[in-house]
Amino acid sequence: MKFIELKTEIPGPNAKRLLERRYEHVPKGPFNTALTFVEKGSGALLTDVDGNTFIDFAGAIGTINAGHCPKEVVGALKAQLDKYLHTSFHVMMYEPYIALAEKLNEITPGDHSKKTFFLNSGAEAVENAVKIARKYTNRKGIISFERGYHGRTYMAMSLTSKVKPYKYGFGPFATDTYKMPYPYYYRKPEGLTNDELDDLILAKFEDFFLSEVPADDVAAVIMEPVQGEGGFVVPSVRFVQGVKTICEKYDILFIADEVQTGFARTGKMFAMEHFGVVPDIITLSKSIAAGVPISAVTGRAKIMDAPNIGEIGGTYGGSPLGCVAALQVIELLEKDQLCERAEAIGQQIAERFEKLQSTIPQIGEIRSLGAMTAIEFVTDSQTKTPNKELVGSIVQEVNKRGVVILGAGLYSNVLRFLCPLVITDEQLQEGLTVIEEVIVELVNEKGV
Ligand code: PMP
Repeated sequence: MKFIELKTEIPGPNAKRLLERRYEHVPKGPFNTALTFVEKGSGALLTDVDGNTFIDFAGAIGTINAGHCPKEVVGALKAQLDKYLHTSFHVMMYEPYIALAEKLNEITPGDHSKKTFFLNSGAEAVENAVKIARKYTNRKGIISFERGYHGRTYMAMSLTSKVKPYKYGFGPFATDTYKMPYPYYYRKPEGLTNDELDDLILAKFEDFFLSEVPADDVAAVIMEPVQGEGGFVVPSVRFVQGVKTICEKYDILFIADEVQTGFARTGKMFAMEHFGVVPDIITLSKSIAAGVPISAVTGRAKIMDAPNIGEIGGTYGGSPLGCVAALQVIELLEKDQLCERAEAIGQQIAERFEKLQSTIPQIGEIRSLGAMTAIEFVTDSQTKTPNKELVGSIVQEVNKRGVVILGAGLYSNVLRFLCPLVITDEQLQEGLTVIEEVIVELVNEKGV
């Protein structure tokens, strides 16, 4: 092992002391994947408080496409610290906010006139996209998709689809929210082609407008171009374009939630570019600023201008630190050609697991769009019964051996790769070797 360096068992003594304090003073609700505490992050590596170094395949849930602590971002943040920390955009404006709005208006899909407004988190971007869509259309209904994830605030949670752990016991939820199916080709009904499944779902919209909500009371459809928490489920171009056509037919706005898919993850700056669809509104966060909390809503200028003065806002939205970090991240993604790199990373991961699939039938499907790569595990390839236990064990065991990775999926049976796109080939291969070894051991020796 060249990059992974384990000096203690995980958690080590310093981490154990911190864990005791964590359990005493922090509620159990917020989950923790790696049972240790970071001391330093650099590129695709994380070093913990006991001096153990891990290869990071989780990237802070898809936030670290540009790597941990890129020097350009850290430099811009330090320079900003010497000037001012926060004035609130609503109190006294600052130039980086405008510069980042200009940049996002330029690089997001579509060459129409756009405007951008900033917030703090992905969920808050979703909330505001919904507010703006309702204000513009003067309609109430919002349609999201089964297995979709949009955040944990009340509107975002209402649009989210997985009951446990996201929604269980937290109702009542926001009214006037509806769910439609989203194609999951690996688990499609027998006898249907992918195109037939797409057409079946698209046809359902028309019935839905008769049975559930009239189309002329639907403000927006919100869609992840690739479902993230839902297990990296990739729809077809036909499906995404079909949804857009329905939206256009009924003057419904199309909101693309690119919180997880944005900023080069899928091999394009924004995943919608794969589908040839220009959304009316796009929500962005996560990898926008290398870990500094900030989110954005970018949309057609006339839509974004629907709320009147004072009708949208927030104390911290678009903080100067977030804005200067994001400007550097975008430059870095472009300069270092991280979209191309994402393609190569996705291919390397897929190749390794395609080889393994011939001997490990528990590997049901390997899915990828750029570096948004996932492996869906099953108990056997015929029944496709989800193998949640195996994924849980892989995540825990690889962590003990120096790799940080996350699960996903409605059935919690998907291993998802969100490595920093600055990861080197050697680091990537080393991490994959650890995962491969763990899978083989768990399946062959422990029979998971
Ligand atoms: N939308 C999508 C597609 C996401 O993946 C997430 C976070 N996983 C969110 C919204 C919510 O973002 P946040 O956790 O920053 O509120």
